[in-house]
Amino acid sequence: MCDYPDFSTETYPRARKAHECEECGQEIRIGTTYVRIAGKFDGAMFCFKMHEPCYELFQLVAGESGIEYGCLDTEIKDRGDEALSNEWEHIKRVVAS
Ligand SMILES: [Zn+2]
Repeated sequence: MCDYPDFSTETYPRARKAHECEECGQEIRIGTTYVRIAGKFDGAMFCFKMHEPCYELFQLVAGESGIEYGCLDTEIKDRGDEALSNEWEHIKRVVAS
């Protein structure tokens, strides 16, 4: 995959209402800082919200070959990397607690 967005910006706002994390699917709670990525791709605007730890792992995983937003869970399952899977499970527990 080598389709990059026309542009995107990354901000770290505090959640004024609850959001759903794009990567782990769990709630981003009110009052917590999350990662918001907004931009334009193929003429369409997009906006992804995710937990900071989820985004950190996303960048780590995406850094090797590039993956789409929202595909982290699938990507990790596909790779079958045990250490990576454990790290992901750990993050999901942390953000849910
Ligand atoms: Zn998350």
